[in-house]
Amino acid sequence: MKATEEAFLERCIPEPNTGCWLWMGGFARSGYGILVLDGAKHRQLRAHRYSWMLFRGDLPDDLVIRHYVCANKACVNPAHLRHHFTKLTDIQVAEIRARAAAGDRRVDIAASYGITPDYVRELARRLVRVPLLEAVALYDPDAAARLASEEAP
Ligand SMILES: [Zn+2]
Repeated sequence: MKATEEAFLERCIPEPNTGCWLWMGGFARSGYGILVLDGAKHRQLRAHRYSWMLFRGDLPDDLVIRHYVCANKACVNPAHLRHHFTKLTDIQVAEIRARAAAGDRRVDIAASYGITPDYVRELARRLVRVPLLEAVALYDPDAAARLASEEAP
């Protein structure tokens, strides 16, 4: 696990009543948690945006992350976050993976969707944009089990 991931996960505390993952690191004046990257003060990320990147995939510039479930700015539970707006829909991501699996060239796929060939590779290898439960299970099987039971009808 990368140092930044460890630093992030060490600073989250699950709150059993709300399901929020409370951020125990530093905060910006705006009320959002801050994660310092590589120990460098000038390299900072909003903790909830980092959570999104870690569990849900990449974070394009056109993506706005909102606390949809809890409205708690200190919460970094990826299940409580929703994106506002993104370049690729889930359907397009599935199409890209299918084309990559079928052997289409990455440069051709990239050109069709206006993304980079590197990003096509990351999507195809499921390094980004993996379903939430799958991603959470990698880090916290108990949390994944709780989420699965919450989502069941
Ligand atoms: Zn929350």
